[in-house]
Amino acid sequence: MTTEQVAARINPWHVAQQQFDLAADRLNLDEGLRRVLREPRRELTVHFPVKMDDGHVQVFTGYRVQHNLGRGPAKGGIRYHQDVSLDEVKALAMWMTWKCAVVAIPFGGGKGGVIVDPKRLSMKELEALTRRFTTEIEVLIGPERDIPAPDVNTNAQVMAWMMDTYSMHHGYTVPGVVTGKPISLGGSEGRHEATARGTVYCILEAAEHLGLDLGLARVVVQGFGNAGSIAARLITAEGATVIAVSDSEGGVHHPDGLDVNRLIAWKAERGTVRGFPGARAVTNAELLEIECDVLIPAALENQITSRNADRIHARIVAEAANGPTTPDADRILFERGIFMIPDILCNAGGVTVSYFEWVQDLNRDHWSEAIVNTKLKEIMVRAFREVLETDLREEGNMRLAAYLVAVQRVADATAMRGLYP
Ligand code: NAD
Repeated sequence: MTTEQVAARINPWHVAQQQFDLAADRLNLDEGLRRVLREPRRELTVHFPVKMDDGHVQVFTGYRVQHNLGRGPAKGGIRYHQDVSLDEVKALAMWMTWKCAVVAIPFGGGKGGVIVDPKRLSMKELEALTRRFTTEIEVLIGPERDIPAPDVNTNAQVMAWMMDTYSMHHGYTVPGVVTGKPISLGGSEGRHEATARGTVYCILEAAEHLGLDLGLARVVVQGFGNAGSIAARLITAEGATVIAVSDSEGGVHHPDGLDVNRLIAWKAERGTVRGFPGARAVTNAELLEIECDVLIPAALENQITSRNADRIHARIVAEAANGPTTPDADRILFERGIFMIPDILCNAGGVTVSYFEWVQDLNRDHWSEAIVNTKLKEIMVRAFREVLETDLREEGNMRLAAYLVAVQRVADATAMRGLYP
């Protein structure tokens, strides 16, 4: 079986629930609270028509899930991908709840997705799909209720269309309904780079904890989109050497290092990193097994499983992606002494700056990039240290520790609010 086939067989919702159960057991969580937090609050499925360029009507399926609203409005991205499923969106929504709690920003967790390969759509079709999907999920979203953001295959342009659609229906401009917008429409400085920047702040903290000199570190990055390519660029600026990267079409490897800026330009021109001059071609499965100091999964779920965890040769795994490691693989990596920076901490920089963007929108304010990055660093470093302290105290592992911090915060908020009615 290929890595893709293995990944497709593992249900991310079961993974998310297993991860939650481990934390709930360790926290001795009240049975009622456990039942509440184990399920999403709301799940919306929509089937909606789009008129394609050739005049025929196609019906697409999309989802918006709100996992928990105890600590604030739902927050979470919108994914456009051919393999999106309700269970994937449920898992991603639950992970958002824990992520917002681990960095202590006042949001609950949500997520959305449409089953579509956007690379097969024209810009006009993509816009029509986005506007109609926004209309369908408008029963749930709103600046005080549920605030979408970009995720896999969605970007600032898609967010601009969502914001415009919502605003047209309300008769006035509502910038705070989505984050990750273009700066000219109320987007935040630094949002585009925030996920990767947060990941690199975590890696810097982990390296210090482990006594690893980043200047000598070799880095491998799986996925070369928003999270992966920017993480590669920012970690290079810290002195590390990126030796391999990949995207959905395959990867490239050079033991002496790849020129990340040239790779970004190559990908922008050709749509893939494949064929990058002077580098050896590798498959995504091979890429994960390359010996390195820092491995950054920045693509999709279920990439590190019990089938390949024995062959991961990294000192640190920094999960820029959501859900790249299964619970079985987690155990194997832990036993092998690999330091894990779990997704709900490692990629929380994106939602943190989304929170800054929302605050700026609500206040009709605009912060400089320096302010954004300073505040982001403060939050990421504090969250990392809280999780590390919990890890050292509980003798668990970093994922369990992040869950203990996050689930406790959400459980406290939920218990304090009480049961309605
Ligand atoms: P993106 O669409 O910008 O990039 C995704 C990249 O992954 C692309 O290069 C794509 O080719 C590659 N890819 C897809 N399938 C692959 C496969 N099977 N093997 C290797 N590469 C593959 O998406 P993104 O926003 O960078 O998101 C990547 C991950 O980061 C996702 O798990 C997402 O949920 C997570 N994340 C993103 C943000 C954000 O702010 N964008 C925030 C938090 C977490």
